[in-house]
Amino acid sequence: MLGRANPHVQIKTPEQIAKMRAAGQVVARALDTLRGAVRPGVSTFELDQVAEKVIRDAGAVPSFKGYHGFPGSICASVNEEVVHGIPSADRLLDEGDIISIDCGAILDGWHGDSAITVAVGEGRQEDLRMMETCEESMWQGIAQMYPDKRLGDIGHAIGTHIAKNGGYGNVREYGGHGIGTEMHMDPHVLNYGKRGKGMVLLEGMCLAIEPMTTLGRHAVVTLDDEWTVVTRDGKRAAHFEHSVAITADGPLVLTARESDRDKIAAMGFIQPTW
Ligand code: MG
Ligand code: MG
Repeated sequence: MLGRANPHVQIKTPEQIAKMRAAGQVVARALDTLRGAVRPGVSTFELDQVAEKVIRDAGAVPSFKGYHGFPGSICASVNEEVVHGIPSADRLLDEGDIISIDCGAILDGWHGDSAITVAVGEGRQEDLRMMETCEESMWQGIAQMYPDKRLGDIGHAIGTHIAKNGGYGNVREYGGHGIGTEMHMDPHVLNYGKRGKGMVLLEGMCLAIEPMTTLGRHAVVTLDDEWTVVTRDGKRAAHFEHSVAITADGPLVLTARESDRDKIAAMGFIQPTW
């Protein structure tokens, strides 16, 4: 087995995966709390403060804060912002907006990383449909995370789901990644790909799976703040992410929230301990 392992990809023991699940639970709690805090009139800075408190109260550290100089504990990306939006006291959410919240925490040296897109108020039907496709493409990618599958199987499942369920823009410049003792590790996980191609997946690998979809074309640009990534055509975008371990019995969703329980059961994945 070891002979086949890519030396650049960290392999975790079951004990280490349990620690990653603990870190993931902190992120899950922060995102659950944030989902409840999203409402018209709240600023993205207030949401950032909520997340930081949940993370620090759990004895963890917000991994985004200071990451290459990033000022926030969350990325808060509103409407046409895809990822890496900087929380701001001046950015107040309006009814009908959508916000992608990406959050990471370090506990005991292990990282968790997860993201959700939430509608402010009821949300527009076209946004909700895109968000559903984006989230489901993430689950379809996770469903490939069994030993002896290939990295390309994940990207193929994500990309195919998006193409067949609305044909939304599938952002190509960013993707998922290995995660463990660092937030971003090898391999890079494309959100498109060829079935049966790429690195062999092995028990003990942990990957963050994170599709990004748009209502328009897939092209993105980075704003002058050098962080915020927006769609080039100004159309809205969604982003969902879970950190997931590959075990002998299949995927274990490390950042699973209580609200994911039924979905995890329906997908036949290992039910995490809560
Ligand atoms: Mg993330
Ligand atoms: Mg990530």
